[in-house]
Amino acid sequence: MTKEIPARGTCDPKYQWHLTDIFADSAAFEAAFGRAKETVKALEAFQGRAAERPLDAITLSFSLSRQISLLYSYAMMNLDQDSGNAAAQALLARVSALAVEAQSAGAFLEPELLTLPAETLRAMAEAPEYRDYRVFLTELLRRQPHTLPAPEEKLLASAGEVLRAPGEVFDMFDDLDIPFPDVMFEDGEKGPLSHANYGPLIRSRDRSVRQGAFEAMMGTFGKFASTVTAMYSGNLKGDIFLMKARRFSSCREMSLYQNQIPEAVYDSLIKAVSDAIPAMNRALRIRKECLGLDTLHMWDLYAPIIADFDRRMDYAEAYDTVLAALKPLGEEYLSLLRRARDEGWVDVFPNRGKRSGAYSNSAYGVHPYVLLNHVNNLESCSTLAHELGHALHTWYTEKNQPFPTADYSLFVAEVASTTNEVLLTRYLLDKFAEDPKATAFLCNQFIESFRTTVFRQTMFAEFEWQAHVLAEKGEPVTKESLTKLYLGLNKKYYGAVCEVDEPIGWEWMRIPHFYRSFYVYVYATGYCAAVAIADRILREGEEAVAGYKRFLSAGSSVPPIEALRFAGVDMNDPATVASALRVFSDTVERLRKALQE
Ligand SMILES: [Zn+2]
Repeated sequence: MTKEIPARGTCDPKYQWHLTDIFADSAAFEAAFGRAKETVKALEAFQGRAAERPLDAITLSFSLSRQISLLYSYAMMNLDQDSGNAAAQALLARVSALAVEAQSAGAFLEPELLTLPAETLRAMAEAPEYRDYRVFLTELLRRQPHTLPAPEEKLLASAGEVLRAPGEVFDMFDDLDIPFPDVMFEDGEKGPLSHANYGPLIRSRDRSVRQGAFEAMMGTFGKFASTVTAMYSGNLKGDIFLMKARRFSSCREMSLYQNQIPEAVYDSLIKAVSDAIPAMNRALRIRKECLGLDTLHMWDLYAPIIADFDRRMDYAEAYDTVLAALKPLGEEYLSLLRRARDEGWVDVFPNRGKRSGAYSNSAYGVHPYVLLNHVNNLESCSTLAHELGHALHTWYTEKNQPFPTADYSLFVAEVASTTNEVLLTRYLLDKFAEDPKATAFLCNQFIESFRTTVFRQTMFAEFEWQAHVLAEKGEPVTKESLTKLYLGLNKKYYGAVCEVDEPIGWEWMRIPHFYRSFYVYVYATGYCAAVAIADRILREGEEAVAGYKRFLSAGSSVPPIEALRFAGVDMNDPATVASALRVFSDTVERLRKALQE
């Protein structure tokens, strides 16, 4: 089956991105590299004088970031298109070294600016010559109460390596040392379990294979419960140390503060998702029926229940499908999508040495880029819609924002991409409305992604919040207390329909994201925001599209919660998440009907 993957040089350039739009040739790259090196020197010369000439120092610092980001984008994409290319490896190594130099050269800027009186900084933020730096300055002021004097900041920075240790220990354990037992595969043969084969095994149509994989995976972590608890508890202690040092009242407040997210958003999410658990239970009952089971176990949650609707489509058809699905976003949006296709923004097909997966990347002042590894199926079409969502978010932001506010917050990073995916699903559901098989497939796919993105990640969010509260109160964080907490949450989410098997209580130990505290909730909020936005666009048309484009154009010029308000969604209000969950609930109903036909 496996076809030989072609070398990059033998592929049709029509389907390759144009990195020459960034630097026409190596001479242009070298010239830019030389200029950036000069800028590093010029910035260094400001050390000790930033408070005397703040405008010049800030301008130079952003100019350097901009130069470095372009060099870095170019070098990274150049390597990603063919990782075997030794010259490309060397280029990226040079740019990375320059980026480190640049970072240490500019480290003095913020502490020196903070020696200025707050009134001075506030006046600067209002002054016209600082217009592009208003957000930078107001952020500096906002963070000031939680910023320590320079020597203490230095001490905290040097503690960073120690604070990261629990996560690094976990990664080593999880990636390398954990000894998985042999399990039964679908062909009846035994072989070692791994992270890589757990996914296919837990999705097996053979129930004993799923159960075997589940019990082996959870059981192995269970055996190391004391060790993993020590790692995670070290992570909690690190968060508490920083929380106290930076004068926050809780670890959650500290984490959300960085992205300017009110804690009410986190609470709203948990409330709305908890209220919608009955809708998820309806989906689980359908699952139980389709599988023909008396009891639904935790190892049955990922088994396929719908026959594959394997729609083959080549790249041209996939692109046309995306164009048709995104038509509600208006002619301007479509014309940009066509430009992306025709003007070398996208690197389409796999070739030898190309980075796997897909991403979108920015090159400020040029145009966004998209890396794909397209194969001719529906999943690749969906990936295309997703990545083009990122790319056009970047395009609108960069078109409308100066460099200092041309990035967008992590909180909204997946909103535009998911909005496109949802619009694609809704388009396909319309297109195949008369075909119950296709409808069932599409509904089920949407339900599954909702369940694993919104319900599951919100359950994770509840877990890490409660674990932090336990630690903050000084209560014992033990393998028993954490496992009891996690088991309880599983009972809350799945207990009405599922047999919540005891070993699921150990699952928290295998979630690497828990070492990046208070991060997973963003998956759930982003997904809900996107579903709500897509729904509004389809119902309200032009006016909703205008608001959505304002959101896409906002960058970091306003806090992310405000940017989302432009698109008509208020994440402070549980009603927003609830409205997305209604779409979920409707889809469950639609699946039930399609299965009856
Ligand atoms: Zn994405």
